[in-house]
Amino acid sequence: MIEENVKKLLKEIPETNPFGEKITLVAAVKLQTADSINCAICGGITDIGDNHVQEFRDKFDQIFGNPRRHFIGHLQTNKIKYLLGKVDLYHSVDRYNLAEELSKKSVQAGVISNILIQINIGNEETKGGFPLEEAEKAYKKISALPALNVEGLMAMLPFDCDEARLRCLAKAMREKNDELNAKGANFKYLSMGMSGDWKLCVEEGSNMIRVGTAIFGERNYNK
Ligand SMILES: *Cc1c(COP(=O)(O)O)cnc(C)c1O
Repeated sequence: MIEENVKKLLKEIPETNPFGEKITLVAAVKLQTADSINCAICGGITDIGDNHVQEFRDKFDQIFGNPRRHFIGHLQTNKIKYLLGKVDLYHSVDRYNLAEELSKKSVQAGVISNILIQINIGNEETKGGFPLEEAEKAYKKISALPALNVEGLMAMLPFDCDEARLRCLAKAMREKNDELNAKGANFKYLSMGMSGDWKLCVEEGSNMIRVGTAIFGERNYNK
């Protein structure tokens, strides 16, 4: 089932977004077993994204096929040490103190950490991230830190709004991406889109989507 879901999804995802950029599918694997994740990899998944450090550590050695590892969840600074050198891309750098600690610990460990700056595009209290208006300032401050390589922006669209508003927010993210690139940012990724909204995000210019439910089915939070 999981393998088929991945194959179907990979067929549905267009080769490129309207800006001619390739789209990377990251499987959002929170609460999934290593077996399920391995099934997804059999179906063609090359990138997996964890939300929880504990899960990331527990399953790390049970995942086959050497997928690229993403960290997409809220990260406490005292847990950075468990991820250093093992994560290919941190999507959720949502505050200065996290960026500073990640930089400091990366220097100590002798690694470069690739990161995305998370933007709270819907200005939601329940979500982390910088306000869109602060994106340039955040980019300047964070990219000046040693041992961090800022590869783009990440956002989660709100759940409870209509398509017109979602498009508007996704478009605003793409515009900010382009604006910072015009100023020399040289971003590789705009990480935006989940099971319910990835199509419209890609249409508006996302090139990296994080999909869980459409691959693994509804998550069981009671396990
Ligand atoms: C869980 C999660 C996803 C995937 O959500 P689905 O709706 O299950 O596709 C994407 N991004 C983040 C940050 C997540 O926590």
